Amino acid sequence: MKKYRIGVDIGGTNIKIALVDFDGKIAYSNTVPTRAEMGYEAGVNNIKQAIKDLMQETNQDSKTIEAIGFGLPGQIDYKSGIVKNLPNIPGWVNIPLAKMIEDEFSIPTKLDNDVRCAALGELNFGAGKGCENLICITVGTGIGSGIVLNGKLVRGAANAAGEIGHIKMSINDGPLCGCGDFGCFEAYASGPAIVTLAKEYISGGKSAKYKEMAADGIITPYIVAQAALQGDSVSIQIFKQIGKIIGVGLTSVVNLLNPEKIIIGGGVADAGDILFEPIRKTIEERAMPIQANSLKVVPAQLANTAGVIGASLLINS
Ligand SMILES: [Zn+2]
Repeated sequence: MKKYRIGVDIGGTNIKIALVDFDGKIAYSNTVPTRAEMGYEAGVNNIKQAIKDLMQETNQDSKTIEAIGFGLPGQIDYKSGIVKNLPNIPGWVNIPLAKMIEDEFSIPTKLDNDVRCAALGELNFGAGKGCENLICITVGTGIGSGIVLNGKLVRGAANAAGEIGHIKMSINDGPLCGCGDFGCFEAYASGPAIVTLAKEYISGGKSAKYKEMAADGIITPYIVAQAALQGDSVSIQIFKQIGKIIGVGLTSVVNLLNPEKIIIGGGVADAGDILFEPIRKTIEERAMPIQANSLKVVPAQLANTAGVIGASLLINS
């Protein structure tokens, strides 16, 4: 009898692998290095070995495991199970990963973008339980999203839907974005934008607590958040500004899609209320009233397990 699924969450440094039961509980988990520099073959072999170890240590096989799902940080062809391109893991270009895994284990295998997997995890077993329409957003180095409408993941014509981070916030100018265009949402409001803002305050002559806290002078969003939580006024101001920008970006999404919930996760979201309060206030002030009134903005619940739990659910999505 099928009792479990396997979820795999591939990152630039580590690969997380978990045996997940049908209630979203993790029965076993392990982490192996990605070793991107050794090419995709080494990575795929590591994954195969990790799946074999998992099966052996938990006494499972292809009769008890319903499916394997992968969340990957980049462009995935969900239908064909091909990894198109992973910007931060060089060499993973046009890899038929689903077929490679199915050939090895004879277990149905699905792939999708990692933020979409996180959305699926939160929808079924986290902050989005019971929702029909939600957007799950991660704010870290960039801003990504998984969109669920009418209970279904939105994938788009080329499986590329959900690039909230590249909503345009200006007509003719603005900061250069990693996508090559100017004035994108994430160029104004992601982790690197927080660091840029923090450096601007210091070079403008402001004394800020995060400057003392930064080891070797390296300022990170985490340090600015810690300084803000300790009451540093410049840091609080930075999060107010960033929260307002995120609120403006999300207002477009709220007006367009009318979600019940926006779930925010990722490193920057760990700052908590100092970030969430200005986001909520800005959406309340700027979104259209009907959309704003039916919305809740909440933190993600599954933290770093959302990826594997969501990936395990891909077979039914
Ligand atoms: Zn962009």
